[in-house]
Amino acid sequence: MSRVTITLDFECGWGAIGDGMWRTREAAGVYDRMRDDIPRFVDTLGRLGLELTWACVGAMISDPAEIRIDHLGGRFATQARRFLDEARPTSRDGRDLLAVVRACRHPQSFGSHTYTHVLLDDADQSRDGIARELERARAANDATGIAANLLVFPRNRAAHLDLVAASGFHRVRLAPDPPTGGIGVIAAAMPGLLGRGARSVFARPSAARRYAHPAGPEAETGTDLLDWGARPAIGKRAATRRRIRRALETAKSGHPIHLWLHPFNLSETVGLLAETTEFLERIAQLRDRGEIIVEGFA
Ligand SMILES: [Zn+2]
Repeated sequence: MSRVTITLDFECGWGAIGDGMWRTREAAGVYDRMRDDIPRFVDTLGRLGLELTWACVGAMISDPAEIRIDHLGGRFATQARRFLDEARPTSRDGRDLLAVVRACRHPQSFGSHTYTHVLLDDADQSRDGIARELERARAANDATGIAANLLVFPRNRAAHLDLVAASGFHRVRLAPDPPTGGIGVIAAAMPGLLGRGARSVFARPSAARRYAHPAGPEAETGTDLLDWGARPAIGKRAATRRRIRRALETAKSGHPIHLWLHPFNLSETVGLLAETTEFLERIAQLRDRGEIIVEGFA
């Protein structure tokens, strides 16, 4: 029996400032639809008694009048300013969604996904700027009354782990380990598109590995992302399903797994909400049969 952990990168449009995709998603009504879909999703968590860990972008759960981004530098600073000026409230203000999550009848746990979703390895950001980003992230969670012990790096791009630890984050999620067994290893070595296709079909999802990072925080590698994309290539949806099924087999065979998803994907990717609901039901079933345990990450 082993552990299944699911974390959510809770960001609305903040996660897409750098690539500008928030405009496309906003125009497509993704963030508006979250107002219908998140309550349904949270209801499922309450019904099944599942604790997931919501890593919140600090500025998304802050009073818009209080948001300060003067610690940012370079291109991202300009893009973030434009996002604040031009995005609709539902794209950038997630306080109503957080309230829904906190009202779940099975308590959820919380952490941080930074303050503005700036990439921590962005060369345009000064070390001091990153320190203030992390400080503000913690302060945003504190002001709202949710825990801030855990940090999920934007795009899993880990950097400045010493500053992360100094800011009071005790635990971080890292990118998955490369595949270790069987044909996954061969697929991992294959170049380009062919390799990517082969990996998605053959690679066995890696177990979550928890260890003390030399810089201080306790680190855990993730296993896989629960999504197949808004406009998936042929076969991507089936391949994602297969990988998630294999990840569950990994858990049943005694290795912990750590999955993650973006709440906005539930309102963007066709069929993902239904599929994820089914997946959560399956997890609850396995837990009830004593085959796995489900645990938050905070
Ligand atoms: Zn993110």
